[in-house]
Amino acid sequence: LQSKLPAVGSSIFSQMSQLAAEQQAINLSQGFPDFGCDPFLLQQLAAYSQQGLNQYAPMAGVLVLRQQIAALIARCYRQQLCPEQQITVTSGATEALFCAIQALVRPGDEVIVFDPAYDSYAPAVQLAGGSTVHLALKAPDFQVDWQQVADSITDKTRLIIVNSPHNPSSQVFTADDWQQLQHLVCQHGLYCLSDEVYEHMVFDRRPQLSALCFPDLAARSLVVSSFGKTFHVTGWKLGYCVAPAPLMAEFRKVHQYVTFSSFTPAQYAVATMLQQHPEQVSGLAAFYQHKRDYFASQLSHSRLQLLPAQGTYFQLADYSAISDLSDVEFCRRLTIDHKIAAIPLSVFYQAPPDQRLIRFCFAKDESTLRQAAEVLCQL
Ligand code: PMP
Ligand code: GLN
Repeated sequence: LQSKLPAVGSSIFSQMSQLAAEQQAINLSQGFPDFGCDPFLLQQLAAYSQQGLNQYAPMAGVLVLRQQIAALIARCYRQQLCPEQQITVTSGATEALFCAIQALVRPGDEVIVFDPAYDSYAPAVQLAGGSTVHLALKAPDFQVDWQQVADSITDKTRLIIVNSPHNPSSQVFTADDWQQLQHLVCQHGLYCLSDEVYEHMVFDRRPQLSALCFPDLAARSLVVSSFGKTFHVTGWKLGYCVAPAPLMAEFRKVHQYVTFSSFTPAQYAVATMLQQHPEQVSGLAAFYQHKRDYFASQLSHSRLQLLPAQGTYFQLADYSAISDLSDVEFCRRLTIDHKIAAIPLSVFYQAPPDQRLIRFCFAKDESTLRQAAEVLCQL
């Protein structure tokens, strides 16, 4: 069989989590919480399931959940969306990203992505017959050079994929970034796929912005988010996509034949959670900012140099004062010799720059972060 994805192996997240398990290491690699979700959410899940809501959900998602998503967007971004026509519930953000890309990208199209890039974008573009054009963001601030973006647009460019707050750099777009993006998308008749799975984790009172806040951009955007991140249940694989009705109609043609619909009781449970506990969402930034600061304070005597983290639940660290090893090798040694697993940054680049950066996930109990920091301070 000739592979359709010859360059793809198992993801760095699977590799590092497996190594962490084998080595009984503290796993700060793959991004997921090591603490439980709100018990209320679990009670709701059980209750809806016991009530018999265990058959296929509507293709676009249960309506009460879509209505709650519309209400959430109205609260966060002051935009009114139509739950019937502009919102679709998906099996995680991953499915939404995949469907969006299949719906938009045609053979021969070019898609602009920013490296370090989340690993699911490029394979999805390739399967659609398109190719990715990678623009590298530079440490420590990973700013987008919008002039470089403008210079990279050709008559084949179809889509720009953005991710703010950004995994793995933890940087957040400013209003100016969004406006420059809007300008280019509109000027060249492109589409935008905006991966906003960390939207509720923006720190230090920075404004929480979305592609949805910029009407001309929103008119050409598919916006993706994930309840796995927001409610600490990454294993539920529940997310959604938001788009103008004509784009959403195309999105649904793909979603209908990828999964058709997502886990029904979880949709009802999340809808009830959004309605009865909106503070869970509005308090998420403070919750994770506290963890970021706790982890940083515990590392203040380490030789790791922490990079600024404006959002997400990831912290980048420069280990060049500790080792000359490549980041991949350094992460292997860190897991095997010191029992701490992290993610090497180079795997997120088409052309990795010469740098010594690794990513830690701080969505962990303080005891986990303290234990990990004790070891890291001895390196
Ligand atoms: N986009 C980014 C930037 C992510 O970090 C992740 C996963 N953590 C996803 C998409 C996928 O989200 P989900 O688990 O809901 O599929
Ligand atoms: N998004 C998670 C991370 O960045 C990983 C998700 C996955 O394992 N596919 O760590």
